[in-house]
Amino acid sequence: MYDVVIIGAGIGGLICGCGLAKYGYQVVMLEQHSMVGGCCTSFRRGGFHFDAGAHLLSGCGSGGALYRILKNLEAKTDLIKVNDYERININNICYEYPTTLMGLKKYLCELQPHESENIYRFFKDIRSKKIKDRLKDISYTVFLDRYFDSKIIKTILSAMWLYLGNEPSRLCALDAVDVFYSYWNEGTYYPQGGAQTFVENIAQKFVETGGRILLSKKAIRIEKIKQGYEIIDHTGQVYQAEFVVNNSDFKSFFKSCGANVKLNAIAADLFNHGKESIAFFCSYWGIHCDDSYVQSKSGWYIDEKQGTTFLITIPSLTDRSICPDKCHIIDVFTPCDGRDKKVQLERQKMLIESIFINIESKVIQVETANYKTFERYTSNYHGCAYGWDHSVTKEGNRRLPYLIGNNIYQVGHWAESGSGVMAAAISGQLVAQKISGREGLF
Ligand SMILES: Cc1cc2nc3c(=O)[nH]c(=O)nc-3n(C[C@H](O)[C@H](O)[C@H](O)COP(=O)(O)OP(=O)(O)OC[C@H]3O[C@@H](n4cnc5c(N)ncnc54)[C@H](O)[C@@H]3O)c2cc1C
Repeated sequence: MYDVVIIGAGIGGLICGCGLAKYGYQVVMLEQHSMVGGCCTSFRRGGFHFDAGAHLLSGCGSGGALYRILKNLEAKTDLIKVNDYERININNICYEYPTTLMGLKKYLCELQPHESENIYRFFKDIRSKKIKDRLKDISYTVFLDRYFDSKIIKTILSAMWLYLGNEPSRLCALDAVDVFYSYWNEGTYYPQGGAQTFVENIAQKFVETGGRILLSKKAIRIEKIKQGYEIIDHTGQVYQAEFVVNNSDFKSFFKSCGANVKLNAIAADLFNHGKESIAFFCSYWGIHCDDSYVQSKSGWYIDEKQGTTFLITIPSLTDRSICPDKCHIIDVFTPCDGRDKKVQLERQKMLIESIFINIESKVIQVETANYKTFERYTSNYHGCAYGWDHSVTKEGNRRLPYLIGNNIYQVGHWAESGSGVMAAAISGQLVAQKISGREGLF
């Protein structure tokens, strides 16, 4: 009998496991895949370490939430600041602003001096709890319209919408300011060695502290028993524990595996009405070139006429260790619109070829992933990237409470704190505290 069974070794499960193990709990973690990480993993092809999903982290400046959680866990993670400037390319015009709040404000004031007062008011208001409380029910577009006339300011302040998955007109203003603020204020960080190294280091900490991870073990049933719960994996192995922490897709898991488990009212409502977020189509390019070929090319690419937004990242400029000498990695992300892989890749290829001249002659490796790929590896419904949808519709923007049933908790991007690596980590920390009854950091 364990104290806790954790289903899934994504960021939420791993951080929760580390906290509980540190508090002395006997914890076993079941992971369906042969490696840990969920949406935050890498794969290796031809000497290139491609990050499949998450790799641009927020909350990593000293004082940032993710930084503090990792530090307190003493997990061996090195986070490198990606750049001091964020780049946004709107209709072929490039805007480059510093990743500090002061720098961003100054940049926007210089760009549109007549908006200066509004810019200062906007950045002051988004930290005010009183104003934030009123943002839950309005879209980010409506919120920005309250401050600015300038279209270009609004577009720059919205460029990061892909980090939440909804276009600004549908995106909940509260989620938008919460997530964007961290990137504007502290900048973006990259885990040295790539996403897989990052999660493996956290997993190692969990094991060193007494936790047990079982890979390639898919939980397929959960049953209530007198002393707690029984989790059954796909090989028929049974794990008993007083508490269950679910890190996997809430709806998919309880629909197929938890018919006999009683969920509390909010969880039951989301079970019937919750809507999932978008998935991504990603292409990963390993190319032979020198630094100058890829420098100053990462960033957001917005084409308003075509209605497209792409994110291009070049992690090898930040960390040389992830690819062979004289090579680089280019990652391209777009919302997945259901077209087949070939069509999606053609669209991304067109963009890439317009930015990286003569790239065909430099390509060593190209890989792609669509919603089906992410669903296969993470079991998130339709490969959704961020748990619940972040829109302001009735179905969207809902969150599960951490406690979803008697001694059953939810962590990760389906839980209350929201989506992304930082939010998933926060959920893991909070659930470990709730189960153990301890306050404060680990
Ligand atoms: C393409 C892409 C790019 C992204 N980019 C960023 C980014 O740059 N920065 C950022 O902060 N966020 C990013 N995100 C979002 C971020 O990756 C996720 O929100 C976060 O990693 C989710 O972590 P999680 O703990 O909720 O669970 P997940 O990562 O979903 O992990 C859940 C785990 O549970 C396992 N599992 C599922 N079912 C079972 C079962 N029945 N039995 C056992 N195990 C099971 C899965 O295999 C998986 O390992 C991105 C997401 C995607 C898809």
